[in-house]
Amino acid sequence: MCKTAIYQKERRCLVCEKSIHGRSDKIFCGINCKNHYHSEVRKITKTISAETVKIINKNWAILTSMMTKDYNQVTVKKLTLQRLGFDFGAITSVHSNHSFINFGIYNYIYYITKYDKVVIMRNKEESIITPFLFKRMLKQFPILAI
Ligand SMILES: [Zn+2]
Repeated sequence: MCKTAIYQKERRCLVCEKSIHGRSDKIFCGINCKNHYHSEVRKITKTISAETVKIINKNWAILTSMMTKDYNQVTVKKLTLQRLGFDFGAITSVHSNHSFINFGIYNYIYYITKYDKVVIMRNKEESIITPFLFKRMLKQFPILAI
């Protein structure tokens, strides 16, 4: 009786809501709906990833503006970075040691002290951004030109 109830339940296409016939794992009525669904998923994924990369690039630009050429480490107030639009939720890597959690953004790593200071360091293990990419970021984030 229970088995009969499952077979009687009508399955509907995820896209157009038409009735589906055939294999039990089928979720689209046909190839057009399947293609439409995957096209929409690709579009959304591309938009989300582009926005995330933009935020990470902005963070990188802000960290670069904080660093001086002569030093590989600088300490700034967390509030200073926040006022410049730094997004602490967007990073490219995370590492932990005994004292701090280090967050990475491309070739920089930083950690936050208990006094809300941010210690920014160049990560020597990461490769340096190419000059081409740097020029592109300079156009996108004029803060670097300061
Ligand atoms: Zn359909």
